[in-house]
Parts: sequence; C-alpha cells; structure tokens
Amino acid sequence: MEGKRKFLFCADSKGARSLYILVSQAIDENVPFDFHVFQDVSEESFVDEWLSQQKMGVYLYISGAADFLKRIQNKALKIGFSEHDLHSLPTGTAKKKLVCCTCHGESEVDVQSYITCAHCGLELEVSAHYSRRLDAYLGYVTIQ
Ligand SMILES: [Zn+2]
Repeated sequence: MEGKRKFLFCADSKGARSLYILVSQAIDENVPFDFHVFQDVSEESFVDEWLSQQKMGVYLYISGAADFLKRIQNKALKIGFSEHDLHSLPTGTAKKKLVCCTCHGESEVDVQSYITCAHCGLELEVSAHYSRRLDAYLGYVTIQ
C-alpha cells in the first residue's frame, strides 16, 4: 500500500452514485480513501476541516450539482489543493439530446425551450417528451 496516493470522494446526495465505480476501484486496488456524502449545504462547513487534515498529494473527486462542485472546489483550492488534484464529475448532464420530429436530425440543447433545427432549419419547441428508444427528447415544429 505504500506509495499509493489517497483518494477523497466527496458528493452531494445525487452525486454519490457516480462515485461508486471509483470507490469500488479503490477498494479493489487497496487504495486508501475517504468517502463523504453531504446531504445539505449546512454540512459543508465540515469540508474545510476535513480537507485541511489531509496530507499533501491526495486526489479529490467531487461529484454533484454544478454549484456544489464550485463550492467544494473553491474550498479545496483555498486550503492548498492544486487544480491537478481535483476531479469533478457533474451530475445531470447540462445538455440533452433533441431529435427533430420533421427531419430526425439531432441537436443539443441545454436550457433553451426553442431552437432552430441545424438540419432542416425549422424552429423547434423542446418538449418534455423523452423517447427511450432514441435516447433523446422530441423537438416539435412550432406553429406560428
Ligand atoms: Zn429538422
């Protein structure tokens, strides 16, 4: 076990799941690790103490919502972690795939509710209809 760098896993309630693979890898490879799940913001005051107790050269994996990642990263950097030691795994992909109902071309959307189809040029409304078969949301042509 000597020479193996310790892993710190840190997640919000939704991010924990994406760390399980890494955690089981650490177990398999006998890498020392700490795993903390923070259920709400008030528990995050503990992060400073936890991180400042760590020795140099640990890897920190953070998984969760974008604002959670940002908060933990800022704390870690302030304590003296380098950017190279930080790994973030954002949950809930910011972008979703949209399939045009007219031409079946694929587009990527994030927060907007209307886009112009890059393939046929029609304006599409980003619907809440998710097709499991296409692994995408359906974009309907807007009627004007
Ligand atoms: Zn189209």
